[in-house]
Amino acid sequence: MSGIVARFIAIPVGQGDAFYLETPSGSVLVDGGRGSAGFAELFMQTTRAKGVDIVVCTHNDADHANGIIGFLEGGLECREVWLPGRWLGVLPHVLNPNPKVAEALAVQAREAAPALRERSRQAPGIRTLFEIYGDSMLGEPFGYDEESSSPLPISRPVEVTDGWPGDLAEALEQALWDEWEWLREPWGWLLGWMPYWWRELPPYPREWHIWRVACQDPVACALFLGALDAAERIRRIAVAAYHRGVAVRWFEYTASSPQGETRWLRPLNGREVAYVPPVPINKLLYFLALTTSNRKSLVFWADLDDCPGVLFTADSDLRDVHQLPDLTGAIITAPHHGSEANANAYSKVSKHLGSSQANITWVRSDGCFRDRPGQSYLSAPGRRICTICRTRARQPKQAVRLLMRWRCWVRERGVRLCSCQ
Ligand SMILES: [Zn+2]
Ligand SMILES: [Zn+2]
Repeated sequence: MSGIVARFIAIPVGQGDAFYLETPSGSVLVDGGRGSAGFAELFMQTTRAKGVDIVVCTHNDADHANGIIGFLEGGLECREVWLPGRWLGVLPHVLNPNPKVAEALAVQAREAAPALRERSRQAPGIRTLFEIYGDSMLGEPFGYDEESSSPLPISRPVEVTDGWPGDLAEALEQALWDEWEWLREPWGWLLGWMPYWWRELPPYPREWHIWRVACQDPVACALFLGALDAAERIRRIAVAAYHRGVAVRWFEYTASSPQGETRWLRPLNGREVAYVPPVPINKLLYFLALTTSNRKSLVFWADLDDCPGVLFTADSDLRDVHQLPDLTGAIITAPHHGSEANANAYSKVSKHLGSSQANITWVRSDGCFRDRPGQSYLSAPGRRICTICRTRARQPKQAVRLLMRWRCWVRERGVRLCSCQ
């Protein structure tokens, strides 16, 4: 594949990750940033492409998943969507967002709140708190431990069409586009101190009793809203993909035995599954929180044969990736937008690279934040490029464009190197 034409673009989304890669073997979009409404247009403007072969959603954080909604609902072309296998277990519940499901979430939020009260003081927002909840339960989740040697029974003889198990396809046929909205909107105004406060006030809250259960306590309320958000993203992506006729493939997080795609794009901490049984409804809050967990975001490697590839780290700190590919000359997306919480990723990559450190390229996509990037990103080996840098003078966001030339990733003209301070 020497002399191949390949290009990589970090799409300058408002906040979050959206990475585009085009190779002779195919093209892929990995995540779509936080905004859903304008993403399809931004994608076309930046890439000059009408679509991609594969759309990947690494995990269910808003700043990765929302743009995927925008891509699919915006009608851009794609042949396959790759999604976290865990979603298969929550989909039966979130596709039918009736008051019973909401009530179960409310009760669970209230039960979970006391243990999180201390942590909530460090959490800057409801989304983080929900994520913290998922992370705090890792390892011992109700006997569901995918890091142990006995995995879930993830395949059973079901009829699967285009990646959709039969019973799910039936539910998707009936799922309405805005079904969950009516349930959520009326509660919004009750949460004066939450980011929903500017919404127009409906005259009367529906499902008042559910609100009373969840929102007597701010921590429970944050968990409850986080769960509704997470459920809504999963539902919208599934519904859009299904009705667009896009085939789905599911990759269940695993720390022990990654497998699946053997061609040019492959999971490093996931294995392909056809089916995951529905999670118990009385654990739904927890499993929804897990879908947003950074540590469980899926990591993919794009292999360009004898040219340097691309490592898509998502928000993972790579501690669960036991076999890194040959990273010489590769592009590596900065894990979790350069956050210091992912320091492990840099030391791991550094150790793995040995003496060939200098020629890798870190690409960091983010919004403007005081605490990012962290020191580990700033002192990582190789060169660094950000969509936006932390500088005193505000800069415009840039699309980070890299081209394959003579088996090297080179910057397109005008692309600035990192000047973070
Ligand atoms: Zn993220
Ligand atoms: Zn920078």
